Amino acid sequence: MKKILVIEDESILRGEVQQWLMLEGYEVQTAENGIAGVEAAFRQLPDLIVCDISMPRLDGYGVLLEMRSNPSTTEVPFIFVTARASHEDIRRGMQMGADDYITKPFTRLELLDAISARLRKKESQEQHFQQEVAQWQQAFEQEREQRQLKSKLVAMFSHDFRNSLASILSSNSLLRDYANRVDEERRLVHFNRIEASVRQLLQMLDDMLVVAQIESGRFEFKPEQMNIHEYLQGITDEYQITHGDTHTLVFEYPCTKAVMADPRLLRQIADNLISNAIKYSPAGTEVRISLSCPDGEMILKVLDQGVGIPEADQPGLFTAFQRASNVGKTQGTGLGLAIVKQAVDIHGGSIALESRIGQGTSVTVRIPM
Ligand code: ATP
Ligand code: MG
Repeated sequence: MKKILVIEDESILRGEVQQWLMLEGYEVQTAENGIAGVEAAFRQLPDLIVCDISMPRLDGYGVLLEMRSNPSTTEVPFIFVTARASHEDIRRGMQMGADDYITKPFTRLELLDAISARLRKKESQEQHFQQEVAQWQQAFEQEREQRQLKSKLVAMFSHDFRNSLASILSSNSLLRDYANRVDEERRLVHFNRIEASVRQLLQMLDDMLVVAQIESGRFEFKPEQMNIHEYLQGITDEYQITHGDTHTLVFEYPCTKAVMADPRLLRQIADNLISNAIKYSPAGTEVRISLSCPDGEMILKVLDQGVGIPEADQPGLFTAFQRASNVGKTQGTGLGLAIVKQAVDIHGGSIALESRIGQGTSVTVRIPM
Protein backbone atom coordinates (compact mmCIF):
# COMPACT_ATOMS: atom_id res chain seq x y z
CA MET A 1 0.00 0.00 0.00
CA LYS A 2 1.45 3.40 -1.01
CA LYS A 3 2.03 5.87 1.84
CA ILE A 4 1.14 9.51 1.31
CA LEU A 5 2.09 12.34 3.63
CA VAL A 6 -0.28 15.33 3.56
CA ILE A 7 1.12 18.54 5.10
CA GLU A 8 -1.62 21.16 5.33
CA ASP A 9 -2.45 23.71 8.03
CA GLU A 10 -6.14 24.10 7.19
CA SER A 11 -7.70 21.34 9.23
CA ILE A 12 -10.92 20.99 7.19
CA LEU A 13 -9.05 20.62 3.92
CA ARG A 14 -6.53 18.28 5.56
CA GLY A 15 -9.29 16.00 6.82
CA GLU A 16 -11.05 16.06 3.49
CA VAL A 17 -7.91 15.16 1.54
CA GLN A 18 -7.16 12.39 4.04
CA GLN A 19 -10.65 10.95 3.45
CA TRP A 20 -10.32 11.04 -0.34
CA LEU A 21 -6.95 9.31 -0.28
CA MET A 22 -7.96 6.64 2.22
CA LEU A 23 -11.00 5.79 0.11
CA GLU A 24 -8.59 5.24 -2.81
CA GLY A 25 -6.67 2.71 -0.73
CA TYR A 26 -3.67 4.87 0.18
CA GLU A 27 -2.15 4.82 3.64
CA VAL A 28 -2.25 8.46 4.80
CA GLN A 29 -0.19 10.40 7.35
CA THR A 30 -1.04 14.01 8.06
CA ALA A 31 0.81 16.97 9.57
CA GLU A 32 -0.57 20.42 10.44
CA ASN A 33 2.58 22.44 9.74
CA GLY A 34 5.97 22.28 8.05
CA ILE A 35 8.02 21.23 11.07
CA ALA A 36 5.59 18.41 11.96
CA GLY A 37 5.61 17.39 8.31
CA VAL A 38 9.40 17.09 8.13
CA GLU A 39 9.42 15.05 11.36
CA ALA A 40 6.70 12.75 10.03
CA ALA A 41 8.60 12.20 6.77
CA PHE A 42 11.79 11.20 8.59
CA ARG A 43 9.87 9.00 11.03
CA GLN A 44 8.22 6.98 8.31
CA LEU A 45 9.41 7.42 4.75
CA PRO A 46 6.39 8.27 2.54
CA ASP A 47 6.03 7.29 -1.14
CA LEU A 48 4.77 10.78 -1.97
CA ILE A 49 4.27 14.13 -0.24
CA VAL A 50 1.41 16.59 -0.82
CA CYS A 51 2.36 19.89 0.79
CA ASP A 52 0.77 23.32 1.16
CA ILE A 53 3.02 26.32 0.50
CA SER A 54 1.96 28.92 3.02
CA MET A 55 2.00 27.50 6.52
CA PRO A 56 3.09 28.75 9.94
CA ARG A 57 6.53 27.88 11.39
CA LEU A 58 8.06 26.26 8.25
CA ASP A 59 6.48 26.94 4.85
CA GLY A 60 6.26 24.49 1.90
CA TYR A 61 9.52 25.70 0.35
CA GLY A 62 11.32 24.98 3.62
CA VAL A 63 9.82 21.48 3.76
CA LEU A 64 10.92 20.84 0.18
CA LEU A 65 14.48 22.01 0.95
CA GLU A 66 14.62 19.70 3.98
CA MET A 67 13.44 16.76 1.82
CA ARG A 68 15.80 17.40 -1.05
CA SER A 69 18.82 17.90 1.21
CA ASN A 70 18.48 14.51 2.87
CA PRO A 71 19.61 11.45 0.85
CA SER A 72 16.82 9.25 2.21
CA THR A 73 14.03 11.63 1.14
CA THR A 74 15.58 13.34 -1.86
CA GLU A 75 13.71 11.17 -4.38
CA VAL A 76 10.27 11.21 -2.77
CA PRO A 77 7.82 12.78 -5.27
CA PHE A 78 6.66 16.16 -3.99
CA ILE A 79 3.42 17.91 -4.99
CA PHE A 80 2.83 21.50 -3.95
CA VAL A 81 -0.64 22.73 -3.10
CA THR A 82 -0.88 26.47 -3.56
CA ALA A 83 -3.62 29.04 -3.19
CA ARG A 84 -1.56 31.71 -4.84
CA ALA A 85 -1.35 30.44 -8.36
CA SER A 86 1.14 33.10 -9.28
CA HIS A 87 3.66 31.97 -11.85
CA GLU A 88 6.40 33.20 -9.54
CA ASP A 89 5.34 30.74 -6.81
CA ILE A 90 5.12 27.84 -9.21
CA ARG A 91 8.42 28.59 -10.90
CA ARG A 92 10.18 28.89 -7.56
CA GLY A 93 8.73 25.59 -6.36
CA MET A 94 9.66 23.72 -9.54
CA GLN A 95 13.18 25.19 -9.53
CA MET A 96 13.65 23.90 -6.01
CA GLY A 97 12.79 20.39 -7.15
CA ALA A 98 9.02 19.97 -6.71
CA ASP A 99 7.54 17.44 -9.13
CA ASP A 100 4.13 19.02 -9.65
CA TYR A 101 1.70 21.53 -8.17
CA ILE A 102 -2.08 21.91 -7.86
CA THR A 103 -3.88 25.14 -7.15
CA LYS A 104 -6.60 25.62 -4.56
CA PRO A 105 -9.46 25.05 -4.84
CA PHE A 106 -8.96 21.66 -6.43
CA THR A 107 -11.31 18.75 -6.99
CA ARG A 108 -10.84 15.23 -5.71
CA LEU A 109 -10.12 13.99 -9.22
CA GLU A 110 -7.49 16.67 -9.88
CA LEU A 111 -5.66 15.64 -6.75
CA LEU A 112 -5.92 11.89 -7.44
CA ASP A 113 -4.77 12.33 -11.03
CA ALA A 114 -1.72 14.33 -10.00
CA ILE A 115 -0.80 11.76 -7.35
CA SER A 116 -1.18 8.69 -9.54
CA ALA A 117 0.74 10.34 -12.40
CA ARG A 118 3.68 11.05 -10.07
CA LEU A 119 3.62 7.57 -8.53
CA ARG A 120 3.57 5.98 -11.99
CA LYS A 121 6.49 8.10 -13.11
CA LYS A 122 8.46 7.22 -10.01
CA GLU A 123 7.73 3.53 -10.56
CA SER A 124 8.89 3.60 -14.17
CA GLN A 125 12.05 5.45 -13.13
CA GLU A 126 12.68 2.76 -10.54
CA GLN A 127 12.06 0.01 -13.07
CA HIS A 128 14.46 1.70 -15.46
CA PHE A 129 17.03 1.92 -12.70
CA GLN A 130 16.53 -1.76 -11.82
CA GLN A 131 16.96 -2.69 -15.47
CA GLU A 132 20.16 -0.73 -15.62
CA VAL A 133 21.44 -2.43 -12.49
CA ALA A 134 20.52 -5.82 -13.99
CA GLN A 135 22.34 -4.96 -17.21
CA TRP A 136 25.44 -3.95 -15.30
CA GLN A 137 25.27 -7.14 -13.28
CA GLN A 138 24.96 -9.16 -16.46
CA ALA A 139 27.91 -7.36 -18.05
CA PHE A 140 29.93 -7.94 -14.90
CA GLU A 141 28.99 -11.63 -14.89
CA GLN A 142 29.98 -11.98 -18.55
CA GLU A 143 33.28 -10.27 -17.87
CA ARG A 144 33.91 -12.72 -15.02
CA GLU A 145 33.01 -15.70 -17.23
CA GLN A 146 35.34 -14.38 -19.94
CA ARG A 147 38.16 -14.15 -17.46
CA GLN A 148 37.52 -17.69 -16.23
CA LEU A 149 37.32 -18.85 -19.82
CA LYS A 150 40.70 -17.30 -20.56
CA SER A 151 42.47 -18.90 -17.61
CA LYS A 152 40.92 -22.24 -18.57
CA LEU A 153 42.05 -21.69 -22.14
CA VAL A 154 45.62 -20.97 -21.11
CA ALA A 155 45.69 -24.03 -18.83
CA MET A 156 44.31 -26.30 -21.54
CA PHE A 157 46.52 -25.01 -24.31
CA SER A 158 49.61 -25.35 -22.10
CA HIS A 159 48.63 -28.93 -21.36
CA ASP A 160 48.09 -29.78 -25.04
CA PHE A 161 51.22 -27.93 -26.12
CA ARG A 162 53.25 -29.95 -23.67
CA ASN A 163 51.78 -33.22 -25.01
CA SER A 164 52.54 -32.40 -28.63
CA LEU A 165 56.04 -31.17 -27.84
CA ALA A 166 56.77 -34.28 -25.76
CA SER A 167 55.66 -36.49 -28.64
CA ILE A 168 57.90 -34.59 -31.11
CA LEU A 169 60.88 -34.89 -28.74
CA SER A 170 60.39 -38.65 -28.26
CA SER A 171 60.06 -39.39 -31.98
CA ASN A 172 63.04 -37.20 -32.72
CA SER A 173 65.23 -38.88 -30.07
CA LEU A 174 64.23 -42.28 -31.39
CA LEU A 175 65.08 -41.34 -34.96
CA ARG A 176 68.44 -39.90 -33.90
CA ASP A 177 69.59 -42.46 -31.31
CA TYR A 178 68.18 -45.65 -32.84
CA ALA A 179 68.51 -44.71 -36.50
CA ASN A 180 70.18 -47.98 -37.57
CA ARG A 181 67.94 -50.23 -35.50
CA VAL A 182 64.64 -48.79 -36.78
CA ASP A 183 63.40 -50.03 -40.15
CA GLU A 184 62.13 -47.81 -42.93
CA GLU A 185 58.45 -48.33 -42.04
CA ARG A 186 58.90 -47.41 -38.36
CA ARG A 187 60.94 -44.38 -39.34
CA LEU A 188 58.09 -43.17 -41.53
CA VAL A 189 55.66 -43.62 -38.65
CA HIS A 190 57.80 -41.34 -36.49
CA PHE A 191 58.33 -38.74 -39.21
CA ASN A 192 54.56 -38.65 -39.73
CA ARG A 193 54.00 -38.39 -36.01
CA ILE A 194 56.33 -35.39 -35.83
CA GLU A 195 54.56 -33.78 -38.75
CA ALA A 196 51.13 -34.41 -37.23
CA SER A 197 52.24 -32.91 -33.89
CA VAL A 198 53.72 -29.84 -35.53
CA ARG A 199 50.52 -29.37 -37.52
CA GLN A 200 48.49 -29.72 -34.35
CA LEU A 201 50.64 -27.09 -32.64
CA LEU A 202 50.22 -24.77 -35.60
CA GLN A 203 46.46 -25.27 -35.55
CA MET A 204 46.35 -24.61 -31.83
CA LEU A 205 48.27 -21.37 -32.33
CA ASP A 206 45.90 -20.34 -35.13
CA ASP A 207 42.93 -21.24 -32.95
CA MET A 208 44.23 -19.17 -30.07
CA LEU A 209 44.86 -16.21 -32.32
CA VAL A 210 41.47 -16.34 -34.00
CA VAL A 211 39.65 -16.93 -30.71
CA ALA A 212 41.47 -14.02 -29.07
CA GLN A 213 40.72 -11.75 -32.03
CA ILE A 214 37.06 -12.74 -32.26
CA GLU A 215 36.55 -12.37 -28.50
CA SER A 216 38.13 -8.95 -28.29
CA GLY A 217 36.15 -7.81 -31.33
CA ARG A 218 39.40 -7.20 -33.19
CA PHE A 219 38.84 -9.85 -35.84
CA GLU A 220 38.88 -8.22 -39.23
CA PHE A 221 36.66 -10.12 -41.64
CA LYS A 222 38.48 -10.16 -44.98
CA PRO A 223 36.46 -12.14 -47.50
CA GLU A 224 38.06 -12.79 -50.88
CA GLN A 225 37.23 -14.68 -54.07
CA MET A 226 38.19 -18.25 -53.30
CA ASN A 227 38.49 -21.32 -55.41
CA ILE A 228 36.88 -23.22 -52.64
CA HIS A 229 37.09 -26.75 -54.06
CA GLU A 230 40.85 -26.39 -54.65
CA TYR A 231 41.32 -24.98 -51.17
CA LEU A 232 39.40 -27.84 -49.55
CA GLN A 233 41.13 -30.40 -51.78
CA GLY A 234 44.47 -29.11 -50.44
CA ILE A 235 43.32 -29.47 -46.83
CA THR A 236 41.91 -32.97 -47.48
CA ASP A 237 45.22 -34.02 -49.08
CA GLU A 238 47.13 -32.84 -46.00
CA TYR A 239 44.92 -34.98 -43.77
CA GLN A 240 45.25 -37.92 -46.15
CA ILE A 241 49.03 -37.71 -45.73
CA THR A 242 48.98 -37.44 -41.94
CA HIS A 243 46.04 -39.76 -41.21
CA GLY A 244 45.90 -41.97 -44.30
CA ASP A 245 47.16 -44.92 -42.28
CA THR A 246 44.01 -44.93 -40.14
CA HIS A 247 41.27 -43.23 -42.16
CA THR A 248 40.19 -42.88 -45.75
CA LEU A 249 39.33 -39.33 -46.68
CA VAL A 250 36.96 -38.85 -49.59
CA PHE A 251 36.36 -35.41 -51.07
CA GLU A 252 33.45 -34.81 -53.46
CA TYR A 253 32.66 -31.47 -55.04
CA PRO A 254 29.87 -31.20 -57.57
CA CYS A 255 30.57 -27.45 -57.42
CA THR A 256 33.55 -25.46 -58.71
CA LYS A 257 32.15 -21.95 -58.37
CA ALA A 258 34.20 -19.18 -56.77
CA VAL A 259 33.02 -18.17 -53.31
CA MET A 260 33.53 -14.96 -51.32
CA ALA A 261 34.90 -16.10 -47.98
CA ASP A 262 37.66 -15.46 -45.48
CA PRO A 263 40.33 -18.16 -45.99
CA ARG A 264 41.52 -18.02 -42.37
CA LEU A 265 38.01 -18.77 -41.16
CA LEU A 266 37.39 -21.45 -43.78
CA ARG A 267 40.60 -23.11 -42.68
CA GLN A 268 39.27 -23.13 -39.10
CA ILE A 269 35.95 -24.56 -40.22
CA ALA A 270 37.47 -27.32 -42.35
CA ASP A 271 40.28 -28.19 -39.93
CA ASN A 272 38.04 -28.49 -36.93
CA LEU A 273 35.32 -30.50 -38.67
CA ILE A 274 37.74 -32.89 -40.35
CA SER A 275 39.91 -33.35 -37.26
CA ASN A 276 36.78 -34.09 -35.19
CA ALA A 277 35.55 -36.61 -37.77
CA ILE A 278 38.91 -38.41 -37.62
CA LYS A 279 39.36 -38.10 -33.87
CA TYR A 280 35.93 -39.47 -32.99
CA SER A 281 35.80 -42.39 -35.40
CA PRO A 282 37.66 -45.70 -35.27
CA ALA A 283 40.55 -46.65 -37.51
CA GLY A 284 39.54 -48.21 -40.81
CA THR A 285 36.51 -45.96 -41.34
CA GLU A 286 35.83 -43.34 -43.94
CA VAL A 287 35.49 -39.56 -43.58
CA ARG A 288 33.47 -38.01 -46.37
CA ILE A 289 33.81 -34.30 -47.12
CA SER A 290 31.38 -32.91 -49.65
CA LEU A 291 31.01 -29.49 -51.14
CA SER A 292 27.96 -28.38 -53.10
CA CYS A 293 26.48 -25.05 -54.06
CA PRO A 294 22.79 -25.03 -54.94
CA ASP A 295 20.83 -21.71 -55.04
CA GLY A 296 23.47 -19.16 -54.08
CA GLU A 297 24.69 -21.17 -51.12
CA MET A 298 27.86 -23.06 -50.37
CA ILE A 299 27.22 -26.25 -48.43
CA LEU A 300 30.07 -28.08 -46.77
CA LYS A 301 29.28 -31.39 -45.14
CA VAL A 302 31.67 -33.56 -43.15
CA LEU A 303 30.40 -37.08 -42.46
CA ASP A 304 32.01 -39.80 -40.38
CA GLN A 305 31.26 -43.35 -39.23
CA GLY A 306 32.30 -42.70 -35.66
CA VAL A 307 31.05 -42.88 -32.08
CA GLY A 308 28.23 -40.38 -32.60
CA ILE A 309 26.98 -37.83 -30.08
CA PRO A 310 24.27 -38.45 -27.45
CA GLU A 311 21.21 -36.40 -28.35
CA ALA A 312 21.12 -34.61 -25.00
CA ASP A 313 24.68 -33.32 -25.50
CA GLN A 314 24.20 -32.06 -29.04
CA PRO A 315 22.69 -28.58 -28.46
CA GLY A 316 25.50 -27.44 -26.12
CA LEU A 317 28.47 -28.39 -28.27
CA PHE A 318 28.80 -25.05 -30.05
CA THR A 319 29.60 -23.43 -26.71
CA ALA A 320 33.27 -23.28 -25.73
CA PHE A 321 34.59 -26.14 -23.56
CA GLN A 322 31.49 -28.30 -23.91
CA ARG A 323 32.25 -31.92 -24.73
CA ALA A 324 29.93 -34.88 -25.13
CA SER A 325 29.64 -37.47 -22.36
CA ASN A 326 30.97 -40.29 -24.60
CA VAL A 327 34.42 -38.83 -25.41
CA GLY A 328 36.12 -41.42 -23.21
CA LYS A 329 39.88 -40.93 -23.25
CA THR A 330 39.91 -38.88 -26.48
CA GLN A 331 41.79 -35.65 -25.81
CA GLY A 332 40.21 -32.30 -26.62
CA THR A 333 39.56 -28.84 -25.27
CA GLY A 334 35.99 -28.47 -26.50
CA LEU A 335 36.83 -25.34 -28.44
CA GLY A 336 36.72 -26.57 -32.03
CA LEU A 337 32.98 -26.39 -32.69
CA ALA A 338 32.68 -23.07 -30.84
CA ILE A 339 35.28 -21.62 -33.20
CA VAL A 340 33.51 -23.16 -36.20
CA LYS A 341 30.21 -21.63 -35.08
CA GLN A 342 31.78 -18.17 -34.72
CA ALA A 343 33.48 -18.47 -38.11
CA VAL A 344 30.19 -19.50 -39.74
CA ASP A 345 28.30 -16.68 -37.98
CA ILE A 346 30.78 -14.11 -39.24
CA HIS A 347 29.99 -15.29 -42.77
CA GLY A 348 26.25 -14.96 -42.07
CA GLY A 349 25.85 -18.71 -42.45
CA SER A 350 24.43 -21.54 -40.36
CA ILE A 351 25.60 -24.84 -38.94
CA ALA A 352 23.68 -28.04 -38.20
CA LEU A 353 24.62 -31.33 -36.64
CA GLU A 354 23.11 -34.76 -37.13
CA SER A 355 24.33 -37.73 -35.22
CA ARG A 356 23.48 -41.28 -34.17
CA ILE A 357 25.28 -43.07 -31.37
CA GLY A 358 27.56 -45.74 -32.76
CA GLN A 359 26.73 -44.88 -36.36
CA GLY A 360 28.31 -41.55 -37.07
CA THR A 361 28.00 -37.81 -37.25
CA SER A 362 27.51 -35.30 -40.01
CA VAL A 363 28.05 -31.59 -39.63
CA THR A 364 26.65 -29.29 -42.30
CA VAL A 365 27.79 -25.72 -42.77
CA ARG A 366 25.88 -23.36 -45.07
CA ILE A 367 27.40 -20.09 -46.20
CA PRO A 368 25.64 -17.64 -48.52
CA MET A 369 27.68 -17.00 -51.67
P1 ATP B 1 39.22 -29.38 -29.65
O1 ATP B 1 39.06 -28.02 -29.07
O2 ATP B 1 40.59 -29.90 -29.55
O3 ATP B 1 38.62 -29.47 -31.00
P2 ATP B 1 37.07 -31.15 -28.95
O4 ATP B 1 37.20 -31.93 -30.21
O5 ATP B 1 36.71 -31.90 -27.73
O6 ATP B 1 38.38 -30.31 -28.65
P3 ATP B 1 35.00 -29.65 -30.29
O7 ATP B 1 35.66 -29.82 -31.60
O8 ATP B 1 34.41 -28.33 -29.94
O9 ATP B 1 35.97 -30.02 -29.09
O10 ATP B 1 33.85 -30.70 -30.16
C1 ATP B 1 33.04 -30.67 -29.00
C2 ATP B 1 32.60 -32.05 -28.65
O11 ATP B 1 31.66 -32.49 -29.64
C3 ATP B 1 33.68 -33.10 -28.65
O12 ATP B 1 34.34 -33.12 -27.42
C4 ATP B 1 32.87 -34.37 -28.92
O13 ATP B 1 32.29 -34.79 -27.72
C5 ATP B 1 31.76 -33.88 -29.82
N1 ATP B 1 32.06 -34.10 -31.24
C6 ATP B 1 32.43 -33.17 -32.14
N2 ATP B 1 32.55 -33.69 -33.36
C7 ATP B 1 32.25 -35.00 -33.23
C8 ATP B 1 32.18 -36.09 -34.15
N3 ATP B 1 32.46 -35.95 -35.45
N4 ATP B 1 31.81 -37.31 -33.66
C9 ATP B 1 31.52 -37.47 -32.36
N5 ATP B 1 31.58 -36.48 -31.45
C10 ATP B 1 31.93 -35.26 -31.88
MG1 MG C 1 37.55 -30.76 -32.03
